[in-house]
Amino acid sequence: MVSQDMLRLGQQSSVIRAISEYGAARRAQIGAENVFDFSLGNPSIPAPEALTERLIRALQEEHPCRVHGYTSSAGDMGTRGAVCEHIERTFGFEADPKLVYMTCGAAASLTVAFHALLLEGEKVVVPAPFFPEYRVFVEKAGGVLCPVPSLEPSFQIDLDAMAAAIDEKTKIVLLNSPNNPTGAVYSRETLEKLCALLREKEKEYGTEIFLLADEPYRELCYGGASPAWLPSLYDRTLVAYSYSKSLSLPGERIGYLLVSPRMEKAAEVFAAVCGAGRSLGFVCAPSLWQLVLKDCQGMTSDVSEYERNRDTLFHSLSEMGYTVTPPDGAFYLFVKSLEEDAGAFCERAKKYELLLVPSDSFGVKGYVRIAYCTDPETIEKSLPAFRALYEEYRK
Ligand code: PLP
Repeated sequence: MVSQDMLRLGQQSSVIRAISEYGAARRAQIGAENVFDFSLGNPSIPAPEALTERLIRALQEEHPCRVHGYTSSAGDMGTRGAVCEHIERTFGFEADPKLVYMTCGAAASLTVAFHALLLEGEKVVVPAPFFPEYRVFVEKAGGVLCPVPSLEPSFQIDLDAMAAAIDEKTKIVLLNSPNNPTGAVYSRETLEKLCALLREKEKEYGTEIFLLADEPYRELCYGGASPAWLPSLYDRTLVAYSYSKSLSLPGERIGYLLVSPRMEKAAEVFAAVCGAGRSLGFVCAPSLWQLVLKDCQGMTSDVSEYERNRDTLFHSLSEMGYTVTPPDGAFYLFVKSLEEDAGAFCERAKKYELLLVPSDSFGVKGYVRIAYCTDPETIEKSLPAFRALYEEYRK
């Protein structure tokens, strides 16, 4: 007999995966050029050439035991130092290599953070909509996920709603900016107010509230938007970072979890992070990638193609009559469904070979997510299908 809980999890496919698998089957049936698959957040832009060159050099020139051997559980100190230098150059913030834990992407960073911080039954408050896997990560760490609706149509944080949701059981406030699925970048002003609110709540309840910044899309910002560096605004911050999107490396599973040196008992929090990593088997993140990234800090894929896709889709869909949230970052467009049931709308879109994700699994109803990390030609070719779908609803 296996764990029934894990069995259930393993047998349920995520909604996004299910649509993407449908897309693969459809491509086999009618040809890839006839399917407009906007389901998965898989980067469509290649990793920078300089990164590939560094990878090749590592394989050709470095000693194999260094390239493929274990690093320390928390990661190579040289890489962790390079991460901190980059943070200092970019944000003017002094991070500490001894408080950086190299991980297998943001998913591992988040899981480790939840296991390190949460006591049974403690709350993780998150603005909705949110990345659906949060629920799995939080609940399996013994916590309770508490989604708080955001302001529509901007999908900025609703501070009053957050104030009402944060109570003495709240251990973590989880933020994802630029946001999946809305593309919203939270404004600095809102974040400053939120941080002030957290300090007030800590005082009121005599508790510690951690801010956990999930930032795999940090560098994917358009039109001058730029996400604030949260450790500068709030001392009890941890940052879950990933190179999956910024360097188009999602399959390589590499990122880090940073504990701010400004928080009280930072060393103890980091020790709990190491304990969580150990208990989950997330030790010694891929050595080859740690080695490569030591020399590639600050490098990003050329994200200008995403910006072009965003502009084309945003302007075209708005012109057709769709209600679209203006996205400042990530590679997602959040569009109001043309009927109340977003699932039914997505089913109807399939008739036009448009594969969209209903917003329900992101914790809000009535929208769809369009992942525009795809080649510009697919975007252009999909526009008549979007128009035909819209016309069908007007009839
Ligand atoms: N957090 C958010 C908001 C995401 O969108 C994703 C992936 O799409 C992740 C975390 C997980 O990223 P990674 O591939 O680095 O594990």
